[in-house]
Amino acid sequence: MSGLLSVVLPAYNESEVIELSIKTLCETFENANINYELVFVDDGSKDDTWKKLSDASSDSHIKAIHFSRNFGKEAAIFAGLEMSKGDCVIVMDCDLQHPPKTAVEMYRLWEQGFEVVEGVKNTRGKETIFHTIAANTFYKMMSSSAGIDMSRASDFKLLDRKAVTALLKLPERNMFFRALSSWVGFKSTQIEYDVAERAGGSSKWSTVSLVKYALKNITSFTSFPLQLVSICGVVMILICIFFAVEAIITYSQGNAKEGFTTVILLLTFASSVLMLSLGIIGYYLSKIYEEIKGRPRYIIAETRNMIDETRNI
Ligand code: UDP
Ligand code: MG
Repeated sequence: MSGLLSVVLPAYNESEVIELSIKTLCETFENANINYELVFVDDGSKDDTWKKLSDASSDSHIKAIHFSRNFGKEAAIFAGLEMSKGDCVIVMDCDLQHPPKTAVEMYRLWEQGFEVVEGVKNTRGKETIFHTIAANTFYKMMSSSAGIDMSRASDFKLLDRKAVTALLKLPERNMFFRALSSWVGFKSTQIEYDVAERAGGSSKWSTVSLVKYALKNITSFTSFPLQLVSICGVVMILICIFFAVEAIITYSQGNAKEGFTTVILLLTFASSVLMLSLGIIGYYLSKIYEEIKGRPRYIIAETRNMIDETRNI
């Protein structure tokens, strides 16, 4: 008998696609003769996603967790990983943008002995120019700090139970799943896939939420912005030396430097840099504060087909 495959699917307001998604995935894995379970994590949906999941859970392949409110996709992924029982786990979106047939290919690679299979995007699907530029900048920063190419990385991956256990042992609250799965190491490979069109409904990301997501993940993965503060300091010192020398020379030649405009410019420039730096430090401080509070990553309201129905982590 082949190993059990758990498929973790975060779902937030996905009532339009959830039924199609369940049907397609069940058919795909049954046709491929894979022993599977689907672990849906309803991330506090406001529509009837949970009702549809509850109804679908009459099929014992389908397990479902309902969060007490929206905790975000990363939290949903981690809840799914914690609740899954499989020998290997695939994380994928439940809008069918991650092709089910690629999931089967991932499973086959796992059977061949790979412990982490990263799904990399062949194409990024339809996106606006602004989105593409912002995503590229974000991934450049992340790639250089993580030491891995992240430009085509996605949350679509397969992890062996060993890798899942290693991930779940990490104590931090602010996790960036996409980068951490390669950070844990293990025998890994990549598989390319084309991002499909959404099967229904609409993307849950607004520009503001994407910017927030980027900031949260940059600060949870790298301290580069803090070093940027020091770099700014060095630049300011150089500017300061230049002006000081210039002022002294002008003074020694008998005429004081013309001043008000320069003073205003310097003052506003210096205070903006200072404020910005304080902001960056403050942001890190708030992240540390969040971490040490040690609050749970998520709160479960209800579960279906889970052995431990009341477990709140
Ligand atoms: N998602 C979630 N919680 C959120 C936002 C999104 O669990 O707060 C899920 C969503 O249901 C989907 C996946 O994350 O399964 C990817 O979201 P979406 O399709 O909106 O993002 P995109 O594919 O546009 O990047
Ligand atoms: Mg999507």
